[in-house]
Amino acid sequence: MSRTRPEFIDTHAHMNLPEFRLDTVKALHRAEHAGVRRVVNIGTQIDSSRRAIALAEQHEGLFATVGVHPHDASSCDAETIAELRRLCEHPKVVAVGEVGLDFYRDLSPRPVQVEVFKRLIELAWETSLPIIVHDREADEEVLTILEAECPDDMGGVLHCYSAGPDLLERTLALGFHIGIDGPVTYTTAGALRKVAARAPLDRILLETDCPYLAPKGRDRNQNEPAFLPDIAAKIAEVRGLTPTEVAAATTANALRLFPRLSG
Ligand SMILES: [Zn+2]
Ligand SMILES: [Zn+2]
Repeated sequence: MSRTRPEFIDTHAHMNLPEFRLDTVKALHRAEHAGVRRVVNIGTQIDSSRRAIALAEQHEGLFATVGVHPHDASSCDAETIAELRRLCEHPKVVAVGEVGLDFYRDLSPRPVQVEVFKRLIELAWETSLPIIVHDREADEEVLTILEAECPDDMGGVLHCYSAGPDLLERTLALGFHIGIDGPVTYTTAGALRKVAARAPLDRILLETDCPYLAPKGRDRNQNEPAFLPDIAAKIAEVRGLTPTEVAAATTANALRLFPRLSG
C-alpha cells in the first residue's frame, strides 16, 4: 500500500532565540525527516524579529513573524512600531506576533502590556497580516481586547491555547484559531485534551514553541520542530483520527491563515 507522507507546519517556533541551542541545519534536517517542512520562527522584540527574518532568508523552509512579547512591552516605543512596520514588508514575514498579555510573570507593567497589545493589533490591521496572540493567565482581558479591537476579517491564533473548554466558544466566535503545543501530551493536561477533542478541526494549528514545552518523553530542555508530530499523534488519538488526517487538516489551516507561507 502506498501512502503519501504527511506534511506538517510548525507554526510557532523560536529557533531565533539564544535559548535554542541546537544547530539550525541539523535541526531542520531532523524536522524534514519527520515531515515538518515549514517552520515559522516567532519574533519577541526587535532583535529576535530581525533574527527570525535572517534565518528565513538563509533557509527555504523557514518563515518569520515580527512582534513584541508582553514580557518586552516596556521596551516598545513609537520607533519600535515604525521598525516593525518596515519589517512586515518582508515577503517571508507571515504574521504580526507574538503579542498579547502575560499576567503570570508580569515582566512589564499590565497597563503597558495592554497599550502595546492594542497598538500591535492596529499594526496587524494596517499591514493586512494575521496576528499571533500570547495569553498567559489573562484570558478574560485578552478576549475582551480582541473582541473590541479586531476587525471582523482579521485572522489570528491564540497560540499555546491554555484557556480550557469554557473560553473556546469566544475564541472561535472571533474567527480565531487555537495553537496546540506539547502540553497536550502531558499526563495532567486533561482540560487541554478536551479542547483538542472538541475544537473544530479546521481551527487547530500545531506548534512546538521550541525550545520550550517539549512533548512528553522528549528532552525537556530542548524541544525542536522535529517533535511536532507527537502533538498531532495525541490530537489524532483523542479525536479518533489518523495522524495523517490531523496533519492534512492543520497544514491546510496554516496555509489559509498565513497566505505568505505559500510563497
Ligand atoms: Zn507565547
Ligand atoms: Zn512563543
